[in-house]
Amino acid sequence: MPKWVYLFHDGNAKMRDLLGGKGAGLAEMTRLGLPVPPGFTITTKACNVYSAKGRFPPGLKVQIAAAVKRVEAKAGNRLGDPGNPLLVSVRSGAKFSMPGMMDTILNIGLNDAVATALAASSENERYVWDAYRRLLQMFGRIVRGIDGHKFEAIMDRWKAKTTGGKDTDLDAGMLRLIVDEFRAVYTSESKDFPEDPRVQLEEAIKAVFGSWNGKRAVDYRNFHKIPHDLGTAANVQTMVFGNLGDDSGTGVVFTRDPATGEKGLYGEYLANAQGEDVVAGIRTPLKVRELKGRMPRIYAELNRHAMKLERHYRDLQDIEFTVERGKLWVLQTRAGKRTAKAAMKVAVDMAGERLITRDEAVRRVEPAQVIQLLMPRFDERAKEAARKEGRLLAHGLNASPGAATGIVVFDPDEAERLGRDEKRPVILTRIETSPDDVHGMLHAKGILTTRGGATSHASVVARGLGLPCVVGAESIRVDYEDGSFSVGESIVRKGDAVSIDGTTGEVFVGAISTIDPDFRREKELLTLLSWADKVRRLQVWANADYPRDAVRAREFGAQGIGLCRTEHMFFEQERLPIVQRMILAETEAERREALDRLLPIQRGDFKGIFEAMGDLPVVIRLIDPPLHEFLPKYEDLLVEAAELRITGKDPDRLKEVERLLKAVAAMKEQNPMLGLRGCRLGIMFPGVTEMQVRAIFEAACGLKKAGEDPHPEIMIPLVGHVNELRVEREKLERVAKQVMEEQGIRVDYKFGTMIEVPRGALTADEIALHAEFFSFGTNDLTQMTFGYSRDDAEGKFLMAYVQRGILPANPFQTLDRAGVGQLMRVAVEKGRKARPDLKIGICGEHGGDPESIAFCHELGLKYVSCSPFRVPVARLAAAHAALREKAGPKGTD
Ligand code: ADP
Ligand code: MG
Ligand code: MG
Repeated sequence: MPKWVYLFHDGNAKMRDLLGGKGAGLAEMTRLGLPVPPGFTITTKACNVYSAKGRFPPGLKVQIAAAVKRVEAKAGNRLGDPGNPLLVSVRSGAKFSMPGMMDTILNIGLNDAVATALAASSENERYVWDAYRRLLQMFGRIVRGIDGHKFEAIMDRWKAKTTGGKDTDLDAGMLRLIVDEFRAVYTSESKDFPEDPRVQLEEAIKAVFGSWNGKRAVDYRNFHKIPHDLGTAANVQTMVFGNLGDDSGTGVVFTRDPATGEKGLYGEYLANAQGEDVVAGIRTPLKVRELKGRMPRIYAELNRHAMKLERHYRDLQDIEFTVERGKLWVLQTRAGKRTAKAAMKVAVDMAGERLITRDEAVRRVEPAQVIQLLMPRFDERAKEAARKEGRLLAHGLNASPGAATGIVVFDPDEAERLGRDEKRPVILTRIETSPDDVHGMLHAKGILTTRGGATSHASVVARGLGLPCVVGAESIRVDYEDGSFSVGESIVRKGDAVSIDGTTGEVFVGAISTIDPDFRREKELLTLLSWADKVRRLQVWANADYPRDAVRAREFGAQGIGLCRTEHMFFEQERLPIVQRMILAETEAERREALDRLLPIQRGDFKGIFEAMGDLPVVIRLIDPPLHEFLPKYEDLLVEAAELRITGKDPDRLKEVERLLKAVAAMKEQNPMLGLRGCRLGIMFPGVTEMQVRAIFEAACGLKKAGEDPHPEIMIPLVGHVNELRVEREKLERVAKQVMEEQGIRVDYKFGTMIEVPRGALTADEIALHAEFFSFGTNDLTQMTFGYSRDDAEGKFLMAYVQRGILPANPFQTLDRAGVGQLMRVAVEKGRKARPDLKIGICGEHGGDPESIAFCHELGLKYVSCSPFRVPVARLAAAHAALREKAGPKGTD
């Protein structure tokens, strides 16, 4: 017969799979000799059988009865014995903590007979009736599915009769009458409340098992990618009471401050309270540190246990404790949730204290936490002040991190208009969102909804777009008709400012100041990254178009520029007219003249970037977008021409506009992204790329003469057939050699190509013969592999696909391993076969996405290139990939 039940004495920390996190923790603490109220754990396997069959596995009941006997012996009392009753809690606890997702029932073992006897013998009659009414309330809601409001309404009615109006103002007599009313609720809503404590226990265990498949828990697991077949354990534990008077109480303590990572006990304690009262915020709790003065013996003991647990688990612990008549009990320990800042500091400090290795410290910080740390965030002090001013409106679910202040807009069309056309910061506020709202979301600074969870449409889309988002802020009542929302008494109208914190789920009225973190002053992050650099194999380069981006990229630790887009330089105001003249030139001489004017400008651009990067490689991509992007919009020209004709004011301009119209019309393409662009431009439009290469080499030669050592790498985009690369490269390399000859100096250079057309990937062996490097342009490669236009797909259907589970993720954000990844693998293999020293990297936006970076590591690329801000993230993600590989196929737990 399988062992379904483990006494706390029989388990240990390694048994999380079987006993769940809470159970394994209780067992481990018991083993360590901490004061844990005795109890036992029913395994996750039993839960899985129960979920599958709808009933307990054979043998479980007997094992529970035996375990209860052992606990009774230890505690010296008996379940259901009015003279000396054992009371227990039934607590859920899965392998991974799912805070607030599943259920716990306290005070099992109370019934009319037990309560009456206890009340008669106790000097504190009030606590008995309070405990009993809590049992009825929790059992009713969790086990019997009775609407919790039914009980709360009764409580409210009674509280209104007291002078203080709080839970604690209800006296024993009132609580006793409340118990009677609660029992009547059972009779009308379900079956009677079971008098037999063994029946209570069994029903409670079943309900805890059942909560594993509750909607809330299932949604949570989907969101956090926790498998659904783990099951939850149920822990049955002797009750201890923090509500027995002023020498009793309950609290939560962290071994370090979970907001800052600062060492030392941090937490809250509420005297004369039970269970959740601390978190429920009914009364203002004490800071745990204040216990030191008030209950020095308890504080010292708590501190000792906390330090022991932290050393034992080698991680920041979050500990629940209760004091019953001056005796300390520890009820739970787990790794504490922490802010990005605290995660960084705790990891670095613990490595310094030799609690963990540096590799372990690197592993403990998530790349997402680096993103969070470097994002603008609300100033904590401003937030604190806002709370004090009563501006905290509501608390929802933190669906997508980041801070945003903006004006409330309810209508997605209006959000689009205000956000896009008027450039106003908009917080799109909806009850829920649907695919019909995406156009508004695209132009909002943040999203707020009053319904929905972490996998709702709003959450998925906001995360996809990197927008701060709070969902399920249920206390907010939206009135679309009136154009306002309300929370209790406060009313917020369309156009009013609100601030949402997607990292914490808070919603404030009014603006809150944000701070831009300064990378150079994030001491712990810098230390951690220096450790990450020691273990990673991938280099991290940056995409930078301007010298100032290049400078920033180096500050962030970039080891090269993986993509310098030359066309951005063409878009600048004073240059665009020259570029247009070049494109529209009717004679060769005219074009030459325009190109000659662009040459020194481009030379200056490149010089700046080379200077910023010193002897690090700089990959420069030659002109890429379709030419019409540089020209005025056809529709705008039409309007202008019409106006000029009507007014007849400026005949010269009219002539010019008509000429432009003709040229633009001639250049119009049905599918510009698949049209005359990339290397096709260089081939069909001679002159432009020659000018660019000349500018690159003149700049590089000049610097070389001045004693510097630039390393330009010329990248030819959008190659699908080897001949495209061959002709373009031959032509351009001639220019390069010519410039070096003119200047009388040689620079180290390379010619290579982007792999971003599927055919290019498939014929990489041919292409590699003419390229010294490849760089995966995964934006275009994804676009062309899926056949999705990136510019349209996100707004039209892609988000709906992700939300409905048709696609696992937005492929423009997380690299699609199965399809796009396969093409990359083919290109790497074929390319390396043809040219063993081929240098391969990636410069698509995936280069900054941790999951995609892991894939690039597996492919054996030399580097990833991403936006300068993502460089720190990529450094850490690359280290994680290397550490995972080192740990072997199973990884670490
Ligand atoms: P959660 O997983 O939601 O934290 P818990 O099982 O930890 O749920 O229980 C909820 C609250 O009840 C916690 O504050 C916990 O400390 C308290 N609690 C649980 N079991 C007992 C017990 N046997 N004695 C006293 N308090 C308990
Ligand atoms: Mg708990
Ligand atoms: Mg491209």
